[in-house]
Amino acid sequence: MNGMRFIVTYNCNFSCSSCRYKCGPYKKGVMDSNIFRNKALKLYEEGYKDYLIIEGGEPFLHIGTIYKYLKKIKNIDSKKYIITNGFWGKMDTYLYSLSDLKEMGLYGIIIEYDYFHSAFIDILTIKSAIEKALLNGLNISVRAAFLTRDISVKADIITFEYIKEIRKNYKNIGYIFEDANFKKQSLLIKPKSAIREKVIFYNDFKASKKSDAAICKLDS
Ligand code: SF4
Repeated sequence: MNGMRFIVTYNCNFSCSSCRYKCGPYKKGVMDSNIFRNKALKLYEEGYKDYLIIEGGEPFLHIGTIYKYLKKIKNIDSKKYIITNGFWGKMDTYLYSLSDLKEMGLYGIIIEYDYFHSAFIDILTIKSAIEKALLNGLNISVRAAFLTRDISVKADIITFEYIKEIRKNYKNIGYIFEDANFKKQSLLIKPKSAIREKVIFYNDFKASKKSDAAICKLDS
């Protein structure tokens, strides 16, 4: 399994304490669509063909640029995903935005939700986001970060309860559990085969040492 991941912005409407890229409202800018296209085409030719992930920050804050990205990589035959915090869940206009994105080749969305995100968004909004994605026939996963493997701290117990609550309504969507300490690679479409993933960062990534460590882990 070979794929590519683009961290297109560090701009986010949330500022989760768990954020591996230390994103937040005060971080500005988004990757240029031509740079995005050129890097994507190059990696595709190098064999990173199975999936392409657009991540931030919050990509949906830059929906116009996301449209441009998808248009420019229309001919790339990879499964294309966007990772989002789902803030748009209760906004009807995003029902149509998702439809447009699907038309442009989007395969699925991955919605982040756990204890850390719950400081900024409630579970009902996340469920509404899932509904909108389902209505558009998109593949959906919920991604949650845990601090411990045995769910032995309060934050993890709360995250586990959230996941149970979401699973009550949505058994057939995907669930991705990550190490909040960034020691492990994100497990997207994994199972048995090894994942080779290239990560391209928006160019102002000078960030923190913690995030630099994450780059090494991810860019294997
Ligand atoms: S929503 Fe995601 S990108 Fe935004 S601050 Fe939280 S973890 Fe970071």
